Amino acid sequence: MSVEEALEYIKLHQQGVLQSDLWKALSIDSRKCSRIVAKLLKDELITREMESVAGIRTYRLYYSPRSNSRRFESLIAINLFEPCAGCIEECTPRHCAKLSEWIFAIAIGNGEGTQLSNSSLAVQ
Ligand code: SF4
Repeated sequence: MSVEEALEYIKLHQQGVLQSDLWKALSIDSRKCSRIVAKLLKDELITREMESVAGIRTYRLYYSPRSNSRRFESLIAINLFEPCAGCIEECTPRHCAKLSEWIFAIAIGNGEGTQLSNSSLAVQ
């Protein structure tokens, strides 16, 4: 049973899944289930709420879709949005000033407050 399969199972239950039911449904032991849940929580793919069932403490797990800000995380470097995303200009990456400046800003580690303007920098 993989983390992905556990996530799919949780996704299917909009009312949430009790952790004490999850490991039984997935035919894994509770320790392995705890490790999978910890991974999903760490990756912010699920949330949980404490719940008591027949006097036994467990958690109800909910699928938590990534927010838009996280979805585009890979397109952002040092607070600068990758210039090619959504670009409709004639493309010659080797001579693109916007791309060169973005790469330069990352290379010098000074993205904040950097202004994108025409530049003679070229992608090597
Ligand atoms: S390399 Fe320059 S022109 Fe090409 S898509 Fe990226 S930003 Fe646009």
